[in-house]
Amino acid sequence: MQWQSSGAIYHETGVGSRGSSRGCRRQERAAGRIQQARTDEMKNNHIEFQKANEFRNAALADGWIAKPTYAPHEPIESAASLKHSEGYKMMIITRDNIPEYPNAKNRYEIDISIWGSDGLHIDTPPEYNMQMIRNGTKKCDNCKQIVDKTFRYSFAGRCCEQCLPKMREQYEKSGWCD
Ligand SMILES: [Zn+2]
Repeated sequence: MQWQSSGAIYHETGVGSRGSSRGCRRQERAAGRIQQARTDEMKNNHIEFQKANEFRNAALADGWIAKPTYAPHEPIESAASLKHSEGYKMMIITRDNIPEYPNAKNRYEIDISIWGSDGLHIDTPPEYNMQMIRNGTKKCDNCKQIVDKTFRYSFAGRCCEQCLPKMREQYEKSGWCD
């Protein structure tokens, strides 16, 4: 499950650019396919939007404390910052860009980011599950192995000892700072 999935971009260039009738039919068929793709994408995004809302609600029911991330400009329903008594943190974006859509780039913006009490990133489980979140503090971002101890790379990256030199090399380019 990819939560950063709201980037539905459609390219309509290159479809029947010549004016022949054959080109026109091709254009109509292509337009139909684009329309279908849009409908499918919207359906998928709506399902993910609902899942992200359910994720937040399950966390709240499990004792996480939430506040609106961008108060007073945006309600907690679309941008929430959550804290857990064990020190875990989450940021949940569940924006439905009605009524701006279709002028807004995407109808939905969905993101769930989780960090441990050590400030390092944790993979978002497909559904809310506190044990999976706890286990995430032992999971390498890169090779996905569960290890006893994880290490920081870049700002909040979490990896195992073996992956550490490679991750630092890859993400800590000159000029980055902690
Ligand atoms: Zn690793």
